[in-house]
Amino acid sequence: MKVGFVYDPIYLKHDTGQHPENAKRLEAIISHLERTGLTQQLTPIRPRAASIEELSLVHDEQYISHIRDVAQKGGGWLDVDTVMSSNSYEAALYAAGGVIRATEAVMNGEVDSALALVRPPGHHATYEQAMGFCLFNNVAIATKCALANYKLERILIVDFDVHHGNGTQAAFYDNPHVLYISTHEYPFYPGTGSIEETGSGTAEGTTINIPLPAGSGDTEYLEVFEQIIVPAAIRFKPQLILVSAGYDTHWADELALMQVSVTGFAQMVKIIKGLGDELCDGRLVFSLEGGYNLEALAASIKATFDILLGNTIIEDRLGQPPRSFEAPSIAPLIKKIKEIHKLV
Ligand SMILES: [Zn+2]
Repeated sequence: MKVGFVYDPIYLKHDTGQHPENAKRLEAIISHLERTGLTQQLTPIRPRAASIEELSLVHDEQYISHIRDVAQKGGGWLDVDTVMSSNSYEAALYAAGGVIRATEAVMNGEVDSALALVRPPGHHATYEQAMGFCLFNNVAIATKCALANYKLERILIVDFDVHHGNGTQAAFYDNPHVLYISTHEYPFYPGTGSIEETGSGTAEGTTINIPLPAGSGDTEYLEVFEQIIVPAAIRFKPQLILVSAGYDTHWADELALMQVSVTGFAQMVKIIKGLGDELCDGRLVFSLEGGYNLEALAASIKATFDILLGNTIIEDRLGQPPRSFEAPSIAPLIKKIKEIHKLV
């Protein structure tokens, strides 16, 4: 099993200071992968900068120029959450280009699957707005490139970051070639992602939102994966699967209130890998979104790689959440989503 990984030191140069989304995240991941010997099992994929033409598949050209200009002037805050330094534009070009390269490597058969360890993250970035730590929408850009360059008809995007990927949803809201499925804490930042948001026009039904109550953990996530994501994916028959892999769903993460463990992430990835193997020759591209507890993030990334590699032993030193949240009842929510999307 050949599993690619995208990484480049340029991603550390997006300097956000004391911000939770900072370079220490990738440093923690890389050192954990090296310490555990996992790096030797992976195939490195060199990222490149995305071209303006590629970025323009998702973003307004004036917005792209604006991000370049802010970087040239030394950086600054784009909104209350999102900050740039002088090297952030270049890092963001390589983040988008890294996911494009990962997708190319999977489509060309250089690797079976890939995980792009990039920053800044992407799923909140809209057509003309940076938000939620995101500058360019890496997964949406790679998806548009794959649709165009490989003449694909159907791409599935699974987004398990704890936040709703409003930017990705918007990029494909009226595009029937992309099925976007998001699990997220709700109500929560950025406010979008209700079950009623299902796509528009000919794309009606190709956005599936699974807004979960705070306190949802491994049991609830696996239930949702098995009851909604699996049948929806099987019905859609994707030719490629991209994953907005955000690990801020972990119980130790301080930015949100979910209760997923490293073991839970491994089980979710295993289900996605099963779908890839069954539906699209295993063509899977994961892209790092959130995840702010360094230990949980590094362990969860390793678990993701382990599952993609077919390794069976998953290390979970952090274990299950120490506080016992009362398990939320999500059966009525699952029933309602299945009705809306006609999933049996
Ligand atoms: Zn997030």
